[in-house]
Amino acid sequence: MSESRHVLVTGANRGIGLEFTRQLLARGDRVVAACRQPGKATDLNHLAGEHPGRLHVLPLDATAPKTHAELARELPLVLGEDGRLDLLINNAGVLHSGEAFGRVDAANLDHSFRTNAAGPFLLTQTLAPLLADGARVMNLSSRLGSIALTTRFGTPTYAISKAALNMATVLLAQALADRGIVVIAVSPGWVRTEMGGEGAEVAPGDAAAGLLRQIDSVSSEDSGRFIDWQGEAVDW
Ligand code: NDP
Repeated sequence: MSESRHVLVTGANRGIGLEFTRQLLARGDRVVAACRQPGKATDLNHLAGEHPGRLHVLPLDATAPKTHAELARELPLVLGEDGRLDLLINNAGVLHSGEAFGRVDAANLDHSFRTNAAGPFLLTQTLAPLLADGARVMNLSSRLGSIALTTRFGTPTYAISKAALNMATVLLAQALADRGIVVIAVSPGWVRTEMGGEGAEVAPGDAAAGLLRQIDSVSSEDSGRFIDWQGEAVDW
């Protein structure tokens, strides 16, 4: 996948999503950067000025299926009537911190599920007709969503929602296999963003570059797998 591609990145206005967008543009891809408030996405709008015609900033709220459908209606205007997406990066995510057993909030659980699991699943389902045969879908999961690696009670609403995203990944991989579409869940490492915090180990640029290397090198046998930004398998 080295030629210019059409890529959609969700949660593209900051953090790892913004880094994906920067790096994809730098290598010549055409990017649809989806975010909740395009008018306030200063960095993206600046990038759009630097890459005229190759970056489109469109609205999307992962929790609102109505906006998924609106995005699907807009995409042919950007891709051309016969154009298709070569890569969908389901990056938007949320983490509610400071949760302790006995005080886990129902609204946080619901919000995390709708953002981190239902959002990517439903968006991929809605955009499936617009994915090219042989396209790739990369779902930003987390080691915190791994049942096998969980050793303590931490970030429960996030962990539950990312475990659900992992199941969504496997189901999407199966649903799209006959079109040669590869769907994987990935762990970006612990990344220095608003979510990861200043003490995190990995720079957002390194995480994005590592994940793009992985999604470039996967084949149909890898569909439905969970790997990290350096290509190591992650236990479910
Ligand atoms: P940030 O908190 O820095 O950025 C999150 C992004 O998601 C923002 O663009 C935010 O937009 C967007 N977003 C949140 N909710 C919604 C929504 N309902 N609809 C659309 N966009 C939304 O996080 P990171 O960049 O660190 O994380 C990116 C992904 O990587 C996430 O899925 C996260 O779970 C995952 N990840 C991150 C790790 C880390 O250490 N940082 C570790 C493991 C996984 P807005 O500005 O509008 O809020």
